Amino acid sequence: MGTLLIRPPGHRRDVTLRPAATAMVWTGVDHPHETIAVPGVALGDRDVLVAIEMSTICGSDVHTVRGRRSAPTPLVLGHESVGRVIAVGDEGALAVDGSPLRIGDRVVWSITISCASCDRCLRGMPQKCRTLGKYGHDRVGAHGDLTGAFGSHMQLRAGTAIVRVPEALPAAVLAPASCATATAWAAVARAARWRDLEGAAVRIHGAGLVGLSAAAIAAEFGADVEVRDPNPQRQALAARFGAEGLDREPDVVIEASGHAVADALEGVAVGGMVVLVGSVFPADPVPFDAESIVRRLVTIAGVHNYTGAELVEAVAFLAGRGRAYPFADAVGAVRPLTDIDAALAAASERDAPLRIGLVPGR
Ligand SMILES: [Zn+2]
Ligand SMILES: [Zn+2]
Repeated sequence: MGTLLIRPPGHRRDVTLRPAATAMVWTGVDHPHETIAVPGVALGDRDVLVAIEMSTICGSDVHTVRGRRSAPTPLVLGHESVGRVIAVGDEGALAVDGSPLRIGDRVVWSITISCASCDRCLRGMPQKCRTLGKYGHDRVGAHGDLTGAFGSHMQLRAGTAIVRVPEALPAAVLAPASCATATAWAAVARAARWRDLEGAAVRIHGAGLVGLSAAAIAAEFGADVEVRDPNPQRQALAARFGAEGLDREPDVVIEASGHAVADALEGVAVGGMVVLVGSVFPADPVPFDAESIVRRLVTIAGVHNYTGAELVEAVAFLAGRGRAYPFADAVGAVRPLTDIDAALAAASERDAPLRIGLVPGR
């Protein structure tokens, strides 16, 4: 079967890869991944080509391969990685901090690709760009084949938030930054823009990696933190991420599981805020008691993904105060990229580690 590659207009430079890059292509539910060899890419003027050091399997990848949410195929899944710059387009590319990216830089990058000029981007919502692209979510083809994290390389397009990362941090700490850590940062930052979290009582529903990361981040903002999860193994991890329990009603509730929205709305103190960040998959509608929300002066905020600045702050947290928490232990197993089907099956087990890492063969 031939592959039709439709290249967007603009100047491009052919970059040859020897050995060829590999990408694991998902073609649909119950089909094993197909390995494709990508012997070269057409690098746009401000594109960046990265060699992947490690990618991690996020819960949404598991949901996709199990058919719990629809996705365009063929698709290279995966959106949590750390890697190294191996080529830059002819006009060069900048990190979020404005510094030029150079070959050899170790980097993480945003899930989203945004235009920086539409009304939503200008209002500080690049993740809702009118012409949004998303790594690990868009069908292969128009932008080449190296469009997801489950491969040996990724082609990062102009409009990606790219952040240089310290050499000293383990790949297992950095790979989840571009989904779990940055999303957790955005959720806590949303509450922190609304009220000072110093001394605030914060309850987090869900001890997945977003919830645990949010616990550690909220604790560093000075909050007293509690984490609730029906899975006792996950719940037991919470104490290691700064959660100690609450002796009062929470001023802020962060719903990071998608399964406790009603509890979150019901449990928040009078005058409190509920940040919804876990409801990213289709779920049954939740009864919404508007009268109760009104009478209790409750604020509800939705958070989805994050901005480039929030990714920068999340990485700074992991490289700084976050070192006090066992983020490296979140990756409970590391497998070769070619074991992707077995790794995805393992990641969907109830007692799965928070993350399973995938490393390309060299
Ligand atoms: Zn994710
Ligand atoms: Zn835009």
